[in-house]
Amino acid sequence: MPLEETHKPYRIKVVEPIRALSRAERERRLEEAGYNVFHLHASDIYVDLLTDSGTGAMSQEQWAAMMRGDESYAGSRSYDRFRAAVDDIFGFDYVLPTHQGRAAENVLLSSIVKPGDVIPNNMHFDTTRAHVIANGAEPVNLVADIAYEPTAKHPFKGNMDPERLEALIAEIGTGRIPLVMMTITNNSGGGQPVSLANLREISRIAHSHGLPFFLDACRFAENAYFIREREAGYAAKTPLEIAREMFALADGMTMSAKKDGLANIGGILAMNDPDLFETARERLILMEGFPTYGGLAGRDLEAVAVGLYEAVDIDYLVDRVGQARYLGEGLLAAGVPIVEPVGGHAVYIDAKSLLPTFPQREFPALAVANGLYLEAGVRGVEIGSVMFAREDEAGSEVYPELELVRLAIPRRMYTRTHFDAVIEGGRAVASSRDALPGYRIVEGHGPLRHFVARFERFDRR
Ligand SMILES: *Cc1c(COP(=O)(O)O)cnc(C)c1O
Repeated sequence: MPLEETHKPYRIKVVEPIRALSRAERERRLEEAGYNVFHLHASDIYVDLLTDSGTGAMSQEQWAAMMRGDESYAGSRSYDRFRAAVDDIFGFDYVLPTHQGRAAENVLLSSIVKPGDVIPNNMHFDTTRAHVIANGAEPVNLVADIAYEPTAKHPFKGNMDPERLEALIAEIGTGRIPLVMMTITNNSGGGQPVSLANLREISRIAHSHGLPFFLDACRFAENAYFIREREAGYAAKTPLEIAREMFALADGMTMSAKKDGLANIGGILAMNDPDLFETARERLILMEGFPTYGGLAGRDLEAVAVGLYEAVDIDYLVDRVGQARYLGEGLLAAGVPIVEPVGGHAVYIDAKSLLPTFPQREFPALAVANGLYLEAGVRGVEIGSVMFAREDEAGSEVYPELELVRLAIPRRMYTRTHFDAVIEGGRAVASSRDALPGYRIVEGHGPLRHFVARFERFDRR
């Protein structure tokens, strides 16, 4: 089957009105927002590509299931249906629902990590990294080097480097490593997939040292789809069969159901170790709620139970991954450089290649993100110096390697018409690149400043 949006596996039954503001209005809204798209109102935006987390459209089956939501505090029928789906797809012995992915991480990591520990991952997602640090441990990223080359075309740029894992274990021993994690797909690394061969190898290494192996499985269905497309021997398997093969290699998982659960809220923690489960269950009751609802309403559990199966449907995945590819190829053709190959859930504009002489201290990726909003009403997110530049001990700024603008694609929400508007916005930004203004921060500091900062804009010509 071609990796293209050749047909649409759904049609529209419920509509959410949106409108495009005039260019002059967008200018005013962006100025009022302090040139930070996080301060915009959703009603100011035409195509919102800020995140694919919890933003997707639910299906008629999910809405119908929600009407069957059983809100009993303990032992609800909705939990039974959630549990049946999770058992069938992931196959772990113990399962806890949580209100979203970071809650699953919080419960797991606060149960298993002690101060001074080290957690290897291909690449930690922000919230995973934050929970590792909050529990006194050190997050270590062991993704293969190719992940850091924006245009290197490798089919599995999310793979962990097995030699680095072996070297880490040899260096610090197993006593300080409570678990080995892998993030599928690798969100922080551009939504790049991990191969089954790599999962098998990392699982083997972890187990040969007696270490548990956990998956951060937010985009497990997209990862399974890429394996089907790119790894020898899997073309005839269904995404569900591939997913089961992935999870059979692991001892547990965390997941945000706001991604490949196709729900607007929800999370999953699952594992095979009975002792760990007892500890985690106690922490869950403390932090989230009773183990059969875990911070969710019964109706939310129903939406996840149905959404997990819809996420592994091959027609859905062809459309989903095809949308990202359509947007990515369109931007490339319009003269906008992107990170390649396009991952599963987002397209990343490479602002450094687009603006090679634009100094990082003037925030080139912010200039592109704001340009996209002004040109086309599109909201993406800056992943560059606003997010990652840091002062070192001597007080001088250290700038990140990459200046990216992430355009994350909500599930089942936008059509080619919307993506064409994004592509035209990209073309306009690229052709006016020499006129893009620079920015300076006037408000906001610290590692989370990108959420709250306000900026001033200045002419660079
Ligand atoms: C979104 C995400 C999380 C956290 O999930 P939330 O539901 O946002 O709390 C963890 N890991 C990865 C890879 C994610 O993409």
